[in-house]
Amino acid sequence: MDDKRYACVDCRARAPEVETEYTLISSRFGWRLTRKIDRDGTIQLEWRCPTCWARRKQEKAMVATPGEGVPSSEPSSSQRGVDLPPGSRRDPKR
Ligand SMILES: [Zn+2]
Repeated sequence: MDDKRYACVDCRARAPEVETEYTLISSRFGWRLTRKIDRDGTIQLEWRCPTCWARRKQEKAMVATPGEGVPSSEPSSSQRGVDLPPGSRRDPKR
């Protein structure tokens, strides 16, 4: 009966057994919960372990600063909705 435990969507690591998910998010465990909304409105919850979350943040930072020695003083918290849905109606050559 451990269905209720969460798993990291990246490395499939199981989250530690906790009473509430808030415990997981707290600094004690450092897991992160991301909410993704599908095109049909379905909400998907994605849990990430601290390791994968840190790596994800790093990869994003590297994308933002393309190989230059740019000091990372800018707050990277302003995430833009860059990813368009795959089936978006944009058709450049019509
Ligand atoms: Zn992970």
